[in-house]
Amino acid sequence: TVRTRVAPSPTGDPHVGTAYIALFNLAFARQHGGQFILRIEDTDQTRSTPESEQAILDSLRWLGLEWDEGPDVGGPHGPYRQSERKDMYKDFAMRLVEEGHAFLCFRTPEELDALRETRKASGQHTALKQSDLELPAAEVEHRMAQGMPYVVRMRVPEEGVCVIDDLLRGPIEMDWGQVDAQILLKSDGMPTYHLANVVDDHLMQITHVIRGEEWINSAPKHKLLYQYFGWQMPQLCHMPLLRNPDKSKLSKRKNPTSILYYQRMGYLPEALLNYLGRMGWSMPDEREKFTRAEMFENFDLQRVSLGGPVFDQEKLSWLNGVWIRENLDAEAFAAAYCQWALNPEYLMQILPLIQQRVEKFSDVAPLAGFFLAGMMPVQPNSFEHKTLTPEDVKRILQFASWYLDQQRDWHKDTLFAGFKQLAEGMGYKIRDFLFPLFVAIAGTAQSVSVVDAMQILGPDMSRARVRYALD
Ligand code: ATP
Ligand code: GLU
Repeated sequence: TVRTRVAPSPTGDPHVGTAYIALFNLAFARQHGGQFILRIEDTDQTRSTPESEQAILDSLRWLGLEWDEGPDVGGPHGPYRQSERKDMYKDFAMRLVEEGHAFLCFRTPEELDALRETRKASGQHTALKQSDLELPAAEVEHRMAQGMPYVVRMRVPEEGVCVIDDLLRGPIEMDWGQVDAQILLKSDGMPTYHLANVVDDHLMQITHVIRGEEWINSAPKHKLLYQYFGWQMPQLCHMPLLRNPDKSKLSKRKNPTSILYYQRMGYLPEALLNYLGRMGWSMPDEREKFTRAEMFENFDLQRVSLGGPVFDQEKLSWLNGVWIRENLDAEAFAAAYCQWALNPEYLMQILPLIQQRVEKFSDVAPLAGFFLAGMMPVQPNSFEHKTLTPEDVKRILQFASWYLDQQRDWHKDTLFAGFKQLAEGMGYKIRDFLFPLFVAIAGTAQSVSVVDAMQILGPDMSRARVRYALD
């Protein structure tokens, strides 16, 4: 039976790209009466968080992408969270060492830098191989006796061509010379993505790996690992990446990428899923609006087109409007809106911030309205200020925008500390610095604390409003 999987790393907000890949894996599995598995790849312990994992599960489920096996629903091949499978990977890595397909590498960071420098100086661009990295047996013993840290690396061919068969692209040839002796096990005993991914796809009996094209370059290493273990490799299919309207790779610097943003913006899950289904794929009759069931009935992986699909929020909005008009009667529309705007969980984040500022209920909506909006309708005169010039406003918004783009820890205290540091560096009082941000986020400076608001609105909605105010 066909078994597919999506394998997100819980290192940030749930990405629309993850939902897109999940949708195509689910469609393929359902079309073949197979199973779809959700696996959490959290081997990067410094970046993975339980909150991020929960947000990924919640968002995929919100979209209607249900899985047959996964960390929350269990299944016969668990655990489905890689951090809980740690010892298994170590055993497999050691098996490769014993069989001579991998080796312990004791090279220090300084030695590695020096090796790369020599390479560069000689004009060679080839990867580092076992022949560069391996030390004489006596030296290995010496370093081991000293308790020096080591990693496990796989051996790779020094030269020749590796051919990867891709369901959409046919055979892809890649030069072994470019492939380095990949680390499989880190010095802390955690596996790298490559080892854990191959071991799990095998043990979880995955038959088809459908994933983003950013992973094509990893495929030779994976193919070799399957050979070393003597396992059959799943069929590979690399999907085109989503793109910004300017055709660059979809990135949060230009376009919101978090599913949470599209939720907060008030898109219907059915419409967003429909739109993701149109990324690189179309119904046989080219109709633009279709349900999940209709997509699955008509699905054909071979009809995925490799031209980079553009994720365009305006087109999504148009499609969402069609869904709202055609699929919801007045009652359903009202019910869906209430669920979106007036659900107790969201209101309990907002109302406590407002309570101290109101005298009567009728004061609430004007203060809370911006939590239920998209972009703030700002005009140049919205930013008039007694000391800041329009140039100051622009500079502040620009620097704040850059700061927010790279900010990962989205807590109000962290954001406030970051703004304070920026303000000092730029020579503004923090009060003045925050003024344009108040206007961009809440539409007015007479609002609840702007960092509280940003924490509630989330990274992508906050970034989008600041960017919108800049344009
Ligand atoms: P950054 O914005 O910092 O470049 P990112 O957008 O690449 O980060 P990641 O956290 O690296 O985001 O990726 C999260 C998940 O989303 C990964 O599973 C990745 O494969 C997927 N993903 C990222 N960008 C795209 C894209 N353009 N199309 C499809 N999937 C994507
Ligand atoms: N953990 C990888 C990711 O975040 C999975 C890649 C794959 O599907 O092999 O996308």
